[in-house]
Amino acid sequence: MAAYLEIADDSKGHELSLFCVPKHYEEDLDSVIIPNGLIKDRTERLARDIVRDMGGHHIVALCVLKGGYKFFADLMDYIKTLNQNSDKSVPLTVDFIRLKSYSNDQSTNCVKVIGGDELSALAGKNDQSTNCVKVIGGDELSALAGKNVLIVEDIVETGKTMETLLKLLNECHPKMVKVVSLLVKRTPRSSGYRPDYIGFEVPDKFLVGYALDYNEYFRDLSVSVSSCSVLFCSYLI
Ligand code: 5GP
Repeated sequence: MAAYLEIADDSKGHELSLFCVPKHYEEDLDSVIIPNGLIKDRTERLARDIVRDMGGHHIVALCVLKGGYKFFADLMDYIKTLNQNSDKSVPLTVDFIRLKSYSNDQSTNCVKVIGGDELSALAGKNDQSTNCVKVIGGDELSALAGKNVLIVEDIVETGKTMETLLKLLNECHPKMVKVVSLLVKRTPRSSGYRPDYIGFEVPDKFLVGYALDYNEYFRDLSVSVSSCSVLFCSYLI
């Protein structure tokens, strides 16, 4: 089972006033749950574990936008640093897709794939099997055939989004697929799905910051992950 750093349910987080939070968000946030430095340190170790396990082969790192972009950028930097400073290195290419399964602060059963002929074809299949999960953009998923794919996600809540994406990817016959998620939520709504690599296991709160949004707001909280009071969410700086 994947190791992770646990943020306890009774953790109060850190007082907002101790951090640099943009003025326009001060009223909306509860506390800082995971400071930026801790995210970075944990990400560095995830990079090491991933290179150890997948490092023998070319990796295609697939960033799940938009929430995954900060974690993806930091993780890629750490993998590149390992590549530059080791006798063994792994070729790394990147691609980006967008999944939509969230409306306001409610996870839905709905995920769709849009864009590109191949993706549209897969979207049709997906609609039938899982109601709707939206995948937007990215090269054709069929280009991943025979490749070692690392899916990079921001947060897994119910696990339905990732299970749907994995089903779609497996139809394209990649050689290996691993999933790394910065956060996994401890929630009774979980399907039981667990990623291969996990940064932090977090309480069942709505989290924003470090590119995680609430209806597009809070992505510009570049520093950490937090919980918001107005929207009942928490803040990752
Ligand atoms: P799942 O399908 O695992 O329930 O949901 C995964 C997606 O829901 C994530 O990729 C993310 O977009 C969204 N999500 C789940 N929990 C949170 C949260 O606490 N904060 C934010 N900003 N998004 C979340």
